[in-house]
Amino acid sequence: MTAKMTPKIALEEHCMTPGLANYWLPTMTDVPPAARDMLLGRLNDYTGERIEIMDRSGISRSILAIAGPGVQAEPDAALATRLARESNDQLAANVAKNPKRLGGLAHLAVQDAKAAADELERCVKQLGFKGAMINGHTRGLYLDHPSIYPLWERAEALGAPIYIHPTDPVAPAPVLDGVHGVRRATWEWGFETGSHALRLVFSGTFDRFPKAKLILGHLGETLPYLLWRFDSRAKLYNVKLKKQPSEYIRENIWVTLSGMYSSEPMRCAIDALGRDRVMFSADYPFEDSENAGRFMDTTPLADDLRAAVAHGNAARLLGLPD
Ligand code: MN
Repeated sequence: MTAKMTPKIALEEHCMTPGLANYWLPTMTDVPPAARDMLLGRLNDYTGERIEIMDRSGISRSILAIAGPGVQAEPDAALATRLARESNDQLAANVAKNPKRLGGLAHLAVQDAKAAADELERCVKQLGFKGAMINGHTRGLYLDHPSIYPLWERAEALGAPIYIHPTDPVAPAPVLDGVHGVRRATWEWGFETGSHALRLVFSGTFDRFPKAKLILGHLGETLPYLLWRFDSRAKLYNVKLKKQPSEYIRENIWVTLSGMYSSEPMRCAIDALGRDRVMFSADYPFEDSENAGRFMDTTPLADDLRAAVAHGNAARLLGLPD
């Protein structure tokens, strides 16, 4: 790290544990085998190149989570629950090798939400994890479903944020048929994940769990841009909520920079959600951490706001030393 660099806490940093690689590999069918193998090597590395790249990017701490979909794709609930627990133990052992530089988010099988709630509590209280990352829907089950309430109740009680990471939709949307390059991370995941978050808002999940904390990547999956429209249409369609949709998005949702190293959408997110709601992340190894770090160091921001986005907001949300 050089003197010009702002220290950074990075929140959407991916890893792998042995039992979950077979869920991730099918997401790499469009990637050349050499690139896939390089990514898998980086996901499995906790001590070598990962730390060197953090050093070069000014990342003081990376909060690690399993590259998706993990057990979100597992049809057998008991197996999913067991694999998630094993993975969390393995991640905790790797974090323990370098606890000043690494942290963890729990991997949870919401197929059995009561067991997922217990596992979140174990991960937070015994393994020192800072929350959970859930890789989108679980075979079509979204986090607003009443079966998930036991997990929200526990997360709220623990003060543990839940990060929704993008995944492929349940069924491909016809509007994207026949055009190369617009599916997945280009556009499809943003709509899928933004929609998942909106389900939580419009279903009243945050009325039921007002202290729940949700994190979204990609600067909020376009939601910060659309607050006015959500409020206006919720009124027209007579949506029954205690507050306007924008209020839940401002009060229950935090966003990170993952894969969006661009000042215009960052300014929009800061203006729309508030200066304490936007946090750095690099999305290693799927994005270039050094590029992300350079953006954070050089994008035009007042010094105090740069420090808040780079590390202060994450430290406060996750209870980390700043
Ligand atoms: Mn990611």
